[in-house]
Amino acid sequence: GVRHEPTSKIVLDLERLYDEASEELAYVARYARAIQQQRGDYNGRVLSIRADDLRALAIVYDSSPSGLIERLTEHGVLVADPRAFFAS
Ligand code: C2E
Ligand code: C2E
Ligand code: C2E
Repeated sequence: GVRHEPTSKIVLDLERLYDEASEELAYVARYARAIQQQRGDYNGRVLSIRADDLRALAIVYDSSPSGLIERLTEHGVLVADPRAFFAS
């Protein structure tokens, strides 16, 4: 079910996202590449994205922001804690 939690920062694991073979996340991957390009942020292993952009992406997936977060979680492409991510 969909839970309503305060939105925390959305951080994508780019390696996993770009390696993800399934067609399902193709739009998320394309969007992330576009954001990297706009920021000139090419060397990161992770990418923090705007809540507004997540909302727009959710529409593409005919879903809600929390629904899309669930899907991203299932695919293992979200980083819960970027600092812990780099510590491991
Ligand atoms: P902009 O929206 O006018 O933002 C100009 C600069 O303000 C950004 O340069 C960034 O240094 C800073 N900035 C704006 N919003 C935030 C924020 O929420 N957090 C942080 N940490 N900094 C922020 P930058 O990164 O070189 O981006 C240049 C332009 O590229 C942005 O101009 C925007 O038009 C676009 N852009 C970059 N990233 C995104 C994104 O995630 N989503 C969207 N929709 N556009 C983005
Ligand atoms: P870092 O770049 O050394 O940043 C450490 C912490 O400084 C961040 O922890 C955040 O609390 C703060 N910080 C750095 N840049 C900004 C900024 O533009 N705006 C704000 N408000 N705070 C900032 P956080 O968010 O937990 O990130 C941990 C690490 O994850 C970062 O270390 C960086 O290596 C990576 N990371 C997170 N988001 C991005 C991203 O969009 N692009 C890239 N290339 N790396 C990212
Ligand atoms: P953050 O840098 O820690 O920013 C947290 C929130 O503060 C942003 O959530 C946004 O609501 C607000 N904020 C920070 N800087 C600005 C700004 O310059 N203009 C405006 N209008 N609001 C600002 P949001 O938008 O959900 O973004 C989440 C994270 O995504 C940001 O965390 C940052 O790590 C990244 N991000 C978003 N937009 C940009 C951007 O344009 N450039 C870069 N380099 N990073 C961005």
